[in-house]
Amino acid sequence: MRTFVASKNKKNMSKRYTITAALPYTNGPIHIGHLAGVYVPADIYSRYLRLTGNDVAFICGSDEHGVPITIKAKKEGVTPQDIVDKYHAIIKQSFLDFGISFDNYSRTSAKIHHDTAQEFFKTLYKKNEFVEEVTEQLYDAEANQFLADRFVTGTCPKCGNEEAYGDQCESCGSSLNATDLINPKSAITGNVPSLKETKHWFLPLNKHEEFLREWILKGHKKDWKPNVYGQVKSWIDDGLRPRAVTRDLDWGIPVPVEGGEGKVLYVWFDAPIGYISATKEWAEREGKNWEDYWKDEDTKLVHFIGKDNIVFHCIIFPSMLKAEGSYILPENVPANEFLNLEGQKLSTSKNWAVWLPDYLIDFPNQQDVLRYALTANAPETKDNDFTWKDFQARNNNELVAIFGNFINRVVVLSNKYYDGIIPAPSDYLEIDEETLAAVKAYPAVISSSIERYRFREASQELMNLARLGNKYLADEEPWKTIKTDEARTKTVMFVALQIASALAVLSEPFLPFTSDKLKGILNMNDNGWEDVSTKDILIPALHHIGKADLLFSKIEDEQIEAQLEKLIASKKANEAANKVIEPQKDEIVFEDFTKLDLRVGTIIEAEKMPKTKKLLVLKVDTGIDKRTIVSGIAESFSPEDVIGKRVTVLVNLAPRKLRGVESQGMILMTEDEGGNLVFVNPDTDGVNNGLQIS
Ligand SMILES: [Zn+2]
Repeated sequence: MRTFVASKNKKNMSKRYTITAALPYTNGPIHIGHLAGVYVPADIYSRYLRLTGNDVAFICGSDEHGVPITIKAKKEGVTPQDIVDKYHAIIKQSFLDFGISFDNYSRTSAKIHHDTAQEFFKTLYKKNEFVEEVTEQLYDAEANQFLADRFVTGTCPKCGNEEAYGDQCESCGSSLNATDLINPKSAITGNVPSLKETKHWFLPLNKHEEFLREWILKGHKKDWKPNVYGQVKSWIDDGLRPRAVTRDLDWGIPVPVEGGEGKVLYVWFDAPIGYISATKEWAEREGKNWEDYWKDEDTKLVHFIGKDNIVFHCIIFPSMLKAEGSYILPENVPANEFLNLEGQKLSTSKNWAVWLPDYLIDFPNQQDVLRYALTANAPETKDNDFTWKDFQARNNNELVAIFGNFINRVVVLSNKYYDGIIPAPSDYLEIDEETLAAVKAYPAVISSSIERYRFREASQELMNLARLGNKYLADEEPWKTIKTDEARTKTVMFVALQIASALAVLSEPFLPFTSDKLKGILNMNDNGWEDVSTKDILIPALHHIGKADLLFSKIEDEQIEAQLEKLIASKKANEAANKVIEPQKDEIVFEDFTKLDLRVGTIIEAEKMPKTKKLLVLKVDTGIDKRTIVSGIAESFSPEDVIGKRVTVLVNLAPRKLRGVESQGMILMTEDEGGNLVFVNPDTDGVNNGLQIS
């Protein structure tokens, strides 16, 4: 029925793993997109590998260099160090809160990283792996600064996006040099930059093209995800060019060779080296040899990243490692696609996100619910959408109704019938044998999915195990047999407790907090992943378990409504902030203005224009007469809303027919922040109809 790929692979399993998760950029907190795309899958994988007895270094840290941090610091009037200190602390806390089990979470401003990155650069420099070249770069004379990366925006030469950055176009994903941009503009002053000569070191990616073709296009055609492979292939087929690895900036790691004064390493050169320095830091602390994790062919290196980082992890960093010569290359780079939120792209600047610190305020102690919802709906093969309704359904229909319900029944009944002392079973019936055999198959099934980086599938298999438990209880009905057949009831409860124990072990990579809690309730010894398939008994008779404690609780509609309202509020705030102020029109003379005859009036009748959406037919008392005016306000106001409204009327506008009705004038309107129409009205008492506005 099932295929067991994992058990077949077990013999070839490496003993040592270096697992890296993309270094988060410290210019803001992290949101659900980061968690779904990188950190939860990397954590599931690492926890699984540890549970199956492997030696794992799970490595990450804050990426603290680069232009966006200096831009943010300038905007806020603080130093770049202030910015990175603030967000490093927030991000690190979020990872702790969500149970992301890094062996080391470091930062690229650490001395060990500066030393490691400089050493790496010097090695390539000595090996003549760089091309040193004086080129003309964009320069902002007013700011007295070269414009690299995010300091310059312009039109992407590949797709025409007018807001491409100097290092990358976020619209088409192209990696760019600042001088590629059409109509470049300084992000500091808004000036059109000039060109100025400066010396830089380039990594000649073209020199590594053959190696990349062999290694990835031939060597990893089958085992790398199609989205990753496809992007790499199109990059290589497009032709690789030398890429500058230094910058004229003052925030970053100083270039450690002659002529490097006033220059720093390009953030994308130093950031991936951060994986190495964070491993060194960890190894020093733990008394291990870091080189085992980066230079031993038996070590399996896996990079977890989002799809925007594919080029850096599959082309640039491997070329650096290859050029250095003593490092292993990644075995796989299982990049995910993007997670959207309620149908729109997640965006830090537009506050279209669910921030992790905010989530924990609204859903305290429910980290596993978010981990599960994000895994069950992970953007593994295509962009996917997070919706609060789906989140609620995953919790209420799966975690509460299946997993939680099964455990709760087992624990409550065990306490009720046997005071929490596990009963000894009598002879098994066929259903018991079958059920226990099915449980034993789950470790291999789930392993097979995890080892192929299919975490969604793995999480659904885990839920199937809980379903199996529920079905077993529903079929065997111990709450009925307790009255008729004591021995049978004991057997059923014993089997159910074995399933609960299996769930406690196998849920650990996905739901670490729940797994801990459940192990506590069951008062379990340490069972490993394989024990679930090899041991006949995970939790023995006469063993004493604790009292029931709910693992999950129902999420109510009101909680979901509140989250949706938060998003609507962000959307409105964005629209208000992004509202374009129309430029002033051509100058007019006073005589032009006096041609307009504006009067105070009152709407005395209103009705919808038949067969239209936008038009109301109004009767307006202008003080001169009572006249008909057709107004395009029906989408913002109903007739009842406007009867009695004081309004400003342009009375000498030439009459015109709208849908056969003659409109004799115009009512002045504007728009509020949310795009709703608003009357421009005289709101002072005693201002009578017919008075002129001048
Ligand atoms: Zn583009």
